[in-house]
Amino acid sequence: MVTISEQNLEVIPSLAEIPGRYHALEDTVAAAVQKAGRQRAEVRIELAAKYQAPERVHTALLAGATLLGHNIIQQLEESEKELAAAAAPAHRTHVIGHVQRNKARRAVEYAQCIETVDTLKLAKRLNELQEERIETGAAAGAYDVMLQVNSSGAESQYGIAPEATLDIAGEVAQLPHLRIIGLMTIGAHTTDTADIAHSFQVTRELRDALQKAGVSSTTELSMGMTHDLEIAIAEGSTIIRVGTAVFGPRPRQ
Ligand SMILES: *Cc1c(COP(=O)(O)O)cnc(C)c1O
Repeated sequence: MVTISEQNLEVIPSLAEIPGRYHALEDTVAAAVQKAGRQRAEVRIELAAKYQAPERVHTALLAGATLLGHNIIQQLEESEKELAAAAAPAHRTHVIGHVQRNKARRAVEYAQCIETVDTLKLAKRLNELQEERIETGAAAGAYDVMLQVNSSGAESQYGIAPEATLDIAGEVAQLPHLRIIGLMTIGAHTTDTADIAHSFQVTRELRDALQKAGVSSTTELSMGMTHDLEIAIAEGSTIIRVGTAVFGPRPRQ
């Protein structure tokens, strides 16, 4: 077993090295799941594809990736179009970056879930867009969303304050054309593992509280990135969002 801790994460892997990186990530996840006493099928890998050439994303899909995450709607659209034109393997794509109102339409068109809903206003806009899509036959049912929770309280991070999350979730749950499938968080940006674990715990407790309150569709916990995925898996993550471990450091914009 080769884990990501044995990879040099400071260098950008070549195209040919990407499958090995992806397999090392899978092994890392398998080990973390086992250590946490969980089942492997409980945790999915979401590849964070921002600033990656579609060719590199395509290679990762061929290596087994099935779930992609995009931050920037323009990149989401271009990448999905190129992957479709190249007949890349079937996959699901989520939005994991902040969504501006004027980008919401294209986000819904090119991604199957927006993980970063952080205001009732954005949720209402997405609900309207999905209603339109249903009317025109572009969609059949509710659109999947997650609510982003600012679990660390950092002012630099988007997301709903933990203490406001249940109220907002209650309102979003009333919108007929959206389905809340989970909560997403970035967590504390620190090397203090107790602080990181705490932000994941806060998010998990909110998910559990939402289920208790009757929003039973809220099952997912999107949390954990390259440097804290093991902590996230120990704290109940069901989706880890990973870029650097597979693609190396991001190209500068
Ligand atoms: C880029 C990004 C990730 C992946 O982070 P890595 O540290 O590269 O694994 C995860 N989540 C979000 C929201 C991101 O923007």
